[in-house]
Amino acid sequence: MASRLRWYYWSVATQGHTTIEMLHQDLEGCRRCPRLVEWRERVARERRAAWAHEQYWGRPVPGFGDPRARILLFGLAPAAHGANRTGRMFTGDRSGDFLFASLWRCGLANQPTSTSRGDGLRLKGVWVGAAVRCAPPANRPTPEERETCLPWSVAELAFLRRVKVAVCLGAFAWDAALRLNAAISGPAATVPRPRPKFGHGAEYDGRPLKLLGSYHPSQQNTFTGKLTPDMLDGVLRRAATAARVRGSGALG
Ligand code: SF4
Repeated sequence: MASRLRWYYWSVATQGHTTIEMLHQDLEGCRRCPRLVEWRERVARERRAAWAHEQYWGRPVPGFGDPRARILLFGLAPAAHGANRTGRMFTGDRSGDFLFASLWRCGLANQPTSTSRGDGLRLKGVWVGAAVRCAPPANRPTPEERETCLPWSVAELAFLRRVKVAVCLGAFAWDAALRLNAAISGPAATVPRPRPKFGHGAEYDGRPLKLLGSYHPSQQNTFTGKLTPDMLDGVLRRAATAARVRGSGALG
């Protein structure tokens, strides 16, 4: 069964791309969601005073990480002045500071910071993606935008055949990952009913991906103590165990 799923996954989901680099090239030119295109480009033009000297990315943001990843870290969408500025997921903002410090403590990253595409960051066994690839106003994509963007994550995952566990950062990512799981399972697959409930530490033993839930490392959650470093470390360590990724102190 697993190989049949993989066949479907590969032949249909890649949408004709033969390498992940080709896929990312097309993704970066995507303009399917007019509201998000307008927003990502406006933010990139107007810029925040602190980064007025920088050229913003202002395009859809591809995933990044270990091509042999067994864990998918699945976020909501690029932050307007984070990934939409730097061009790499969770890079250049406070959410990323919190997330990568945790990955580093767990031995899944070679450094605790993520500041730019050329900062030397390497991940072990982890790929970082997001449900929606363009920065949305107020960090709120619509359900329609989530559906429109899902095929990009399906296609990206088709090149990451070892991924077994998705760590979903927030309820929106959890819902999108349930849809992603259905999409990569084949044309007849649907989201399970009743729908598995999101919560911090929630687990859904789905196929082909097991889902683990974590509160999103947004400032709203980390500044208020709703999500602490220990809580995020706990989920990432569970993901590493479930996916059989051994964190390494030697990553460096
Ligand atoms: Fe394209 Fe996704 Fe951006 Fe919509 S959100 S324009 S589908 S990359």
